Amino acid sequence: MKQYETVIGLEVHLQLSTQTKIFCGCSTEFGKDPNSQTCPICLGLPGTLPVLNKKVLESAIKIGLALNCKINSLVKFDRKNYYYPDLPKAYQISQYDFPIAHTGYLNVKTGDETKKLGITRAHMEEDAGKLIHDPAIKSSLVDYNRTGTPLVEIVSEPDMRSPQEAYDYLTTLKLHMQYLDVSDCDMEKGSLRCDANVSIREEGQTKLGTKAELKNLNSFKAVKSALEFEVARQIKLAESGERIVQETRLWDESKQITISMRSKEEAHDYRYFPEPDLVPFMVEKEDIKNVRTTLPESPSKKQDRFIKNYKLSTYDVDVLVQDRKISDFFEECVKEYNQPKKICNWIIGPLLQEINSNEKGISNDRLSGINLVAPTAKTFTDLIIKVEDGTISNLVGKSVLTSMLDRGKTSAEIIKEQNLAQVSDEGALEEIVATVIAENSKIVEQIKSGKESAIGFLVGQSMKKTQGKANPKKIGEMIKRRILND
Ligand code: ADP
Ligand code: MG
Ligand code: ZN
Repeated sequence: MKQYETVIGLEVHLQLSTQTKIFCGCSTEFGKDPNSQTCPICLGLPGTLPVLNKKVLESAIKIGLALNCKINSLVKFDRKNYYYPDLPKAYQISQYDFPIAHTGYLNVKTGDETKKLGITRAHMEEDAGKLIHDPAIKSSLVDYNRTGTPLVEIVSEPDMRSPQEAYDYLTTLKLHMQYLDVSDCDMEKGSLRCDANVSIREEGQTKLGTKAELKNLNSFKAVKSALEFEVARQIKLAESGERIVQETRLWDESKQITISMRSKEEAHDYRYFPEPDLVPFMVEKEDIKNVRTTLPESPSKKQDRFIKNYKLSTYDVDVLVQDRKISDFFEECVKEYNQPKKICNWIIGPLLQEINSNEKGISNDRLSGINLVAPTAKTFTDLIIKVEDGTISNLVGKSVLTSMLDRGKTSAEIIKEQNLAQVSDEGALEEIVATVIAENSKIVEQIKSGKESAIGFLVGQSMKKTQGKANPKKIGEMIKRRILND
């Protein structure tokens, strides 16, 4: 069999999280009654005039800069003409020959290397409406609330060489976009959508092969699986001497296969022409500069800084930096209590476990999601300090954290209310130790005959009897003394 190389390029649509639509003042809020958020402009009625939302331009420039792109100072829109029931004007306002940003790159960690993957362009456009196919009434309904929602489409170069690389590109891109705070990047809500283009070519060949465009990809995992399926399908065709045709294929999640949808249109089918209702204009260099000053530290810079300043492992830092809010929270905590490693362990262990557990149901704004009261740097470090100084045991500390997040009380309040303070006083522990020794005579014999490791079992029993309140170190000492000195 010949050796084949996989070639992948991705098109990502990001829905911007502006309050209002791209060319009118309608709200972009998700989940409202169908067609309740429309006006003559986004419905494309004759005689109406679109006006560009300044926030959209700002976000698009931000995205371009974060992706190391050149920014076009000429802002120009074009009409992309096609008919579809969810597109009331029968054209989409997009950018054709002057995308707001072009020729950039994104550094992506993949396997053991960091690859510089090219960004072809990023442009602004409006979203279409939504068709709802309702089998109950054997009809299709249309909701125009989404019509005119601002999008930025980010097109990559065909630089990826495996489905895994495409997956890593997507995760990295999403993380960078989340840091910019321009979109909630939620695939489930459709605010991040991805089409994947893939072709194969014989190893050593420099010409690109014929590509298939894959659609209906509803998760990053689906992108990877669909690409894997498609690469195998194309290799099989090539091996049997059949021609690969340029087409759009749909991913069928339940069957885990791609199905041909249509032969792919070419750009000239859309009859692009300049949007006459939006006059082209220039953005000032000064304005672009100003946007640049608002860019946050990028996740990769933050990663390097965390490793250097806080002496944490790459793994620890990777987890912290996965979420901008979590990493900011970490730094606030370090200001309160200068023990980076301890704080990191409490965040990536118990705190993230709590946050990720289903019933807390947090998606994006992870520190202040529904059903959870966010800790502050002060309340969180207070808890850690109480464990460190022995006021409570580690185990009790974790359950106090659960109560803190559930009920928004401080650790001091919960410890007092539930009488959880660790007991280190020998007098108070005397009785427990005596009972445990009396109940476990076999183990006691083992310890006496030299198997000191069995003490741990007795400590465990004592902890159980005190619901974790006994100071385990103290208990261990007392048991040892009692058994071996008797
Ligand atoms: P189209 O006009 O069909 O949308 P574009 O040239 O705009 O095609 O490219 C769309 C995406 O497809 C880009 O991300 C690009 O990198 C990728 N792409 C283009 N040609 C190929 C190819 N032969 N194999 C894989 N990906 C490709
Ligand atoms: Mg395209
Ligand atoms: Zn409107």
